[in-house]
Amino acid sequence: MKIIKRFIVLQIIFLGSFGCSGLALAGSLVIQDARLWTAPDHTRVVFDLNGPVDYRVFRLKSPERIVVDIRKVTLRAKLDGLVRQDPVLAAIRYGTPRKGMLRLVMDVKESVRPRSFLLKPMHGKPYRLVVDLIRQKRQVRATVTASQVRARKQITIAVDAGHGGEDPGAIGPHHVKEKDVTLAVAKRLAHAINAQPGMRAVLIRKGDYFVPLSRRVQLARKAKADIMISIHADAVKKRTVSGASVYTLSEKGASDHVAAMLAKKENSSDAIGGVRPGEVQDPLVSRILADLIKRDSLNSAELLADEMLKHIRRIGPIKYSVPKHARFVVLGAPEIPSVLVELDYISNPKRERLLRSSKHQQRLATALLQASESFLRRQGRLLPLKRAASKRRVKIKTTRLPTS
Ligand SMILES: [Zn+2]
Repeated sequence: MKIIKRFIVLQIIFLGSFGCSGLALAGSLVIQDARLWTAPDHTRVVFDLNGPVDYRVFRLKSPERIVVDIRKVTLRAKLDGLVRQDPVLAAIRYGTPRKGMLRLVMDVKESVRPRSFLLKPMHGKPYRLVVDLIRQKRQVRATVTASQVRARKQITIAVDAGHGGEDPGAIGPHHVKEKDVTLAVAKRLAHAINAQPGMRAVLIRKGDYFVPLSRRVQLARKAKADIMISIHADAVKKRTVSGASVYTLSEKGASDHVAAMLAKKENSSDAIGGVRPGEVQDPLVSRILADLIKRDSLNSAELLADEMLKHIRRIGPIKYSVPKHARFVVLGAPEIPSVLVELDYISNPKRERLLRSSKHQQRLATALLQASESFLRRQGRLLPLKRAASKRRVKIKTTRLPTS
């Protein structure tokens, strides 16, 4: 099997150099797998391929549907049962309108704009054809308005669950995925923040779908976040390594080799998660990075990172006792003190088990909340503890709780 695989790869390289891979590989191109990810503003369908395909995506009306024509490819992925409860996609049908042509028809429930691109193999992922069904602004607006209603509270914390969708992040020895741990802790943290008077959380990722790094920055800025916490879990080969670490952005470079490697790994999220080629480096983020030194949010981020370490230390081991620095794209909002927290090592089986447990996830979320509060207090943005407690009691009496 290995030999056959290698032969195909070689053939692709060889024929690809003559620019006729689609034609010459007749019969050997296969759609091996398919996945679906539902985001609030789009639905993403990903097809795993054993080579680059010749394809075309277009839209047909009455009824509304998106058609994907792929030349000389065999469908081996099971599409039945792929679409369950999706707000956009009703079903995917397929057929062969003519010889050598596979047609996938996506029946959609509302008018969408299709976007598609082919991703080259990387980080253990094969060739992938990505088809995004982008919802029209009008339809998504409802969710934005609901969060704007809650925006009357004073302090906003952007909670960013690392990875998602196509990008699982690190995977533990018992197959626990970083993207699931980060989302679980993020949701618990958001819940804890929203329970505090005068504070609200904005979840940058709400489900199992991918959000490009620059988009995460944009979402935090749009929400006018006062701080941003990006949640991750690290992995190394050595399974005994454990402990949390906290990172802030560095405009100059990494504090050391480990930090540099980690930033490289976390920044590759875009390539794995599926950002259209050429879109990976957002000029906005680069510009912001250059501008950062003039602002004091880096100093604030450092204080926030200190608080994070102080509070996480109370519930578990710490890998590095001081904050480290590197060029993490997701920390690039100039006016928002932002930190990236690696909760622990998912590569350590014991820590992996803890990261999966709801009790420990809650403990971590509480530590992150307390660290944020402590930072905000030091900044004079929150009342000191004693006064806050007495004020809080008065507030509860007079404030009507939001219904949503
Ligand atoms: Zn990560």
